[in-house]
Amino acid sequence: MKRIFFNLSVDTEQDLHSTQYTGVTQGLPLLASVVEKYPLLPTLFVTGDCLENYPKVFQSYKRQGWEISLHGYRHLRYDELNLNQKKGHLQKGVTLFKKIFKATPSGFRAPQHSIDTDTLQLLPSFGFRYDSSFTPRNFLQVLFFPCYWKAQLKHAFTKNAPSRITDSFYEIPPSAFIFPLTGFPLSILPLFLFKRLFDLIYFLTPHNGIILFYFHSWSLIPLKSKVQKYCPPEQFLKKMDQFTAYALRKTEAITLEEYTYSLTAVANKKKPK
Ligand SMILES: [Zn+2]
Repeated sequence: MKRIFFNLSVDTEQDLHSTQYTGVTQGLPLLASVVEKYPLLPTLFVTGDCLENYPKVFQSYKRQGWEISLHGYRHLRYDELNLNQKKGHLQKGVTLFKKIFKATPSGFRAPQHSIDTDTLQLLPSFGFRYDSSFTPRNFLQVLFFPCYWKAQLKHAFTKNAPSRITDSFYEIPPSAFIFPLTGFPLSILPLFLFKRLFDLIYFLTPHNGIILFYFHSWSLIPLKSKVQKYCPPEQFLKKMDQFTAYALRKTEAITLEEYTYSLTAVANKKKPK
């Protein structure tokens, strides 16, 4: 049987269309109550403002073995910042992270997947080991952000597996097959269809590959959103729990940080001495 890894990540930010942090204060404890049932440590991509407001909360998750990585200093599109602004935001994010965790963040996911070539090239120089922003095979993303359709369509045709960018820096993109393996399809699709989406992605993933499932911190709390009319947060949590149990029957959980280290170790072993 092929060995496939599984990662659950959460884009952790201000609540949708709000300046509140209920997803952090009430949503993440709900996530914790689910993941403690499994041998699963999530990866949180956290914005700088969340870290500034709740440093102790994230220190505590990190002590429990969860991975904390960066989701931008502020929740702004990186493809709309100029080069100096990109550098400035990355520097501020990393400095803040170091102050709280005494370590450099390993991973980065650009807000709204707004990664571009300049940002990708800057990340290793700030000590990042991987980026997880590209959206290969994800055509829903193109519809979600029509103003950025060109960039998102380009992303949809990028490599749909982890790829080495420099000696010790990787791109590990979230999983998709037309529909992404994320919170929105989990909300709107019946669970058995979401499981079939997973099965299809599993089938296409090679031995030692990884499947990335993610949602937002605010998916776990009540919002004024149309999606929650179909799927209120209690139901989302239940589906997320059932899906996680299903995914872990066929895969091994791993944080993206750990997965990146294993890729780097394999690549270094292959290097001619
Ligand atoms: Zn985000």
